[in-house]
Amino acid sequence: MNVLITGGAGYIGSVCAELFLNEGHCVTVYDNLVEGHRQAVDARAELVVGDCLDRELLAQTLRKRQIEAVIHFAAFALVGESMQFPGKYFLNNTVGAQSVLDACVAANARKIIFSSTCATYGAPESEALDESHPQRPVNPYGESKLLVERMLPWYEKIHGLEFVALRYFNAAGASEAFGEHHRVETHLIPNVLKVALGQSQQCSVFGSDYPTPDGSCVRDYVHVRDLAAAHLLALERGKSGFYNLGTGTGYSVLEVIRACEKVGGRKIPFSLQPRRPGDPAKLVAAPKKAFEELRWAPRLSSLEQIVSTAWDWHLRHPSGYVTR
Ligand code: UDP
Repeated sequence: MNVLITGGAGYIGSVCAELFLNEGHCVTVYDNLVEGHRQAVDARAELVVGDCLDRELLAQTLRKRQIEAVIHFAAFALVGESMQFPGKYFLNNTVGAQSVLDACVAANARKIIFSSTCATYGAPESEALDESHPQRPVNPYGESKLLVERMLPWYEKIHGLEFVALRYFNAAGASEAFGEHHRVETHLIPNVLKVALGQSQQCSVFGSDYPTPDGSCVRDYVHVRDLAAAHLLALERGKSGFYNLGTGTGYSVLEVIRACEKVGGRKIPFSLQPRRPGDPAKLVAAPKKAFEELRWAPRLSSLEQIVSTAWDWHLRHPSGYVTR
């Protein structure tokens, strides 16, 4: 199939492009390279440098390459930053996605797979979150994605554009070739591994007074290659709808630090910091719907595998990607 992957030079998008290419699909990566990296684009893919807000270039690209499905990753994804600059998130994530939807309609693409997030749920009202959990985001990042979720059924109903929205829990880990490199790194695992690599003295634990067993936040970490596999299944057999992608098991920040100490073979000093605004105490998926309807199963998402694949990638790319 001819697929266009927006944000295909970013973390999850690059691993997804790699998998689609391995499966014989013809992949065009569409990325403005603001957060993405040229080096993260698989050599077998075509790269078009463009912005999702540029609907004309998008529609032109879709037509020219006879794109049948769009996988829309391109977005800003930092909870903390969204609490400082909400407009940045609503413009890029919400208006940008609407532009992608309109380009799909204009160019007759059949299907869109949208990267959504567990941040659309807000504060959990149950142990594990299934898709029917109320969606009341507690940060603009989650809200910017939820607004897009609300558009999708209307585009399907009115324009016949099929959709699958995948609500990722915490993406982590790496493939052999592609890993996580943000220009300003705020994510837990890369920051902890930086200490193990000797690139920083210590890491921070944001919040030690949460109502969790050890007081630090609990998250459901899912391997980026498992996430990529779900997109393939969503393309092949996913019915329009919303799916959680998580493992169903949560780990605390302190447990992640211990796992990193094990793989890095050294003690990782940390300092206890105040809570980070916008962070719910615990986000763990009830992923049954994706298991049953997409026949998805996380195969690489033990904490050990996640941390060790991330570690291997960072060892091989100590400065991350070197080109813009
Ligand atoms: N976190 C932390 N120290 C860091 C980075 C993150 O304690 O240096 C915490 C953060 O507060 C959250 C969890 O680790 O509870 C996961 O954060 P991350 O930014 O990796 O992903 P998010 O859950 O925000 O998508």
